[in-house]
Amino acid sequence: MRSMRQRLVTGNWKLHGSLKMVEELVGGLSDQLGKGGKTDVTICPPFIYLDAVTRILKGSIIRLGAQDVCAEDRGAFTGEVAASMLAEFLVRYVIVGHSERRTYYCEDNVLVARKFQATRHAGLTPILCVGETLEEREQGLTESIIAAQLGAVIDQVGVEGVAMSVIAYEPLWAIGTGRTATPEQAQSVHAFIRKRLNQHTPLANACIILYGGSVKPDNAGELFAMPDIDGGLIGGASLDLDDFLAICRA
Ligand code: PEP
Repeated sequence: MRSMRQRLVTGNWKLHGSLKMVEELVGGLSDQLGKGGKTDVTICPPFIYLDAVTRILKGSIIRLGAQDVCAEDRGAFTGEVAASMLAEFLVRYVIVGHSERRTYYCEDNVLVARKFQATRHAGLTPILCVGETLEEREQGLTESIIAAQLGAVIDQVGVEGVAMSVIAYEPLWAIGTGRTATPEQAQSVHAFIRKRLNQHTPLANACIILYGGSVKPDNAGELFAMPDIDGGLIGGASLDLDDFLAICRA
């Protein structure tokens, strides 16, 4: 079933960037990857740079994503950005439920599910992040945590809606720590996610499931070679042109 699925590498800049970096990094990516390749490439800069990145990516096949979105479409929600607004800036993907949002901004499974739904309503594709803490893994809770994270979104939009999105498995103990899941550990969770969706819809075979957590040029190849790993969600290494290019080419 691997051959049905498109490869995707997504760069999550988090709270990093400047106009100079946009020019240099996005310009470099566009020169090197903008005409296409086997892997789809998406970058998710902070909201404020979306417009500048859109301009540089004009004519390029590199796609644009956002790091978060408001669950509401309009109204008195100071500081928020709606999915319909992102759509105006040619955004295609929205990361929802990143563990940093869940941990530092208290986003629970229900709010994440509402953000997922808002993203789909605007015609955009959610990248739903799921993953367990080290403590949960050590207690043997990995699958039940991920089942609950997926379950809340399935309750909100149905299993087909989830299967038609992108899912990113990101174990919290691997994000920004330099400690990567082994290819076998990641594959086992990816297979679990696909099997869980597959119980309800054949679309699961086409669902793109990314791995995220300290992916670097030297470990990307072995992770991406696993049968249920369709690419990566890349934090730190997406800020370096050469590293990100090497990961996209892996
Ligand atoms: C992330 O931000 O989703 C991520 C995986 O970060 P890093 O690659 O730095 O671990």
